[in-house]
Amino acid sequence: MRRTKIIATLGPATDPDGVLEGLIAAGVDVVRLNAAHAEPQELAQRLGAIRSAAARAGREIGVLLDLPGPKIRVGDVAEGTVLEPGAEFSLVAESCVGGCQSASISHYALSDDVSAGDRILLDDGRLELIVVKVNPGEVVSRVVIGGALTSHKGVNIPGVTLSIDAITQYDREVLAWAMGAEIDWVGQSFVRSARDIQELRSCMTERQIPIIAKIEKHEAAASIAEIVSAADAVMVARGDLAVETAPERVPVLQRQIVAAARAAGKPVVIATEMLDSMRERPRPTRAEASDVASAIFIRADAVMLSGETAVGLYPIESVATMARIAVAAEAAAPPPRPPHGSSDTDDVQTAVSAAVSELAADLHLAAIVTLTQSGATALAVSRYRPVTPIIAATPRVEVARRLQMAWGVRSITLPFAEHTDARLDQVTTAVREAGLASPGECIAMTAGLWSRVPGGTDFLHVRAV
Ligand code: PEP
Repeated sequence: MRRTKIIATLGPATDPDGVLEGLIAAGVDVVRLNAAHAEPQELAQRLGAIRSAAARAGREIGVLLDLPGPKIRVGDVAEGTVLEPGAEFSLVAESCVGGCQSASISHYALSDDVSAGDRILLDDGRLELIVVKVNPGEVVSRVVIGGALTSHKGVNIPGVTLSIDAITQYDREVLAWAMGAEIDWVGQSFVRSARDIQELRSCMTERQIPIIAKIEKHEAAASIAEIVSAADAVMVARGDLAVETAPERVPVLQRQIVAAARAAGKPVVIATEMLDSMRERPRPTRAEASDVASAIFIRADAVMLSGETAVGLYPIESVATMARIAVAAEAAAPPPRPPHGSSDTDDVQTAVSAAVSELAADLHLAAIVTLTQSGATALAVSRYRPVTPIIAATPRVEVARRLQMAWGVRSITLPFAEHTDARLDQVTTAVREAGLASPGECIAMTAGLWSRVPGGTDFLHVRAV
């Protein structure tokens, strides 16, 4: 059973008949709807299609809705525009069709935020400008690295804090749609601080959807601990992170972010360009295979595919390849047995979760079964990356879907019996019927049976199936 989860971004390449079924059969656990590249109507169609395909396959698939956030872009640019190194180029706060000398910028207050000497990167850092002068409504720069510029390319200004709202009007519109849709996670782009996450939570008026904070801004890279603490999960969004910081900082930050999230028991996703060459070719490069395996060796919860599945030629092969790499890497480096005394805590849930991870290994149990209403008990066990498979038994389908993001957790859904003994028997039977433990094998069960608050794990029991 593969422990590392796979997230695939949906897009035009996954729309044709049979592709979603192929992704599910290849092992996808969560799909990402990217609101940066689709309107709510298209998102709703893709959501309906994945829910139907998952139901036909008898699988629960998590759905992550990624909000675009305050990405700055250039406006329309005339075809054939090429910026020449050494030339002067202005970014202007007005709507116009740009060319070799200037282009419109979506953040009209840019001239208030930058000063001479600041670097401006266009198109994922492919083009570089240096600010020479700032006039009201105009940033005059010199081209350092030139090249072709096309409409709506992204703009990053490393090291500069911009006077920009964390949540755009479009984010709010998409979120309003998500309130009534079966969305399991919301991705927040360009998070800078814990305050940005709290602001997004306050926009969720009808229900709280768990937030995955995308760490991609230089401000976020400098505040990893506070962001991990405020969010429900985090993503190492390496695309923008590389431009906002520097490519050589990405592997270092990736390790730091994974370590911080694991210490806090929050799921962590590694994203972007994991199998990028598979957009056009059916096999990955050696470097890509190693990159995916590295994410598995540091025990990230999930690895994500973006363009490979959304617009690539080989979406199903990309998921299948990622799954094969994950299985091989996990087999080569299985999680170590947790050392005795690994919890070092006075928190009951944490101590029980550490203890069950240890004793399940000591007793060679078939599974650790967490009975969970909110998913918190399963996440608390997953945090210890036990060698023993983790099963979340839950009466709530949305919890089962949410837990698809979490390392090593497989879910079964069933209505819980009222009384404890009946509930434990019923879950044991369900585990056996799902083929997750065989008669005669032993399992451990953990739950919050009496505390009745999320995270109130207060029960640990070992029994034969
Ligand atoms: C990224 O920048 O790495 C990322 C995951 O965000 P997006 O795909 O939305 O650009």
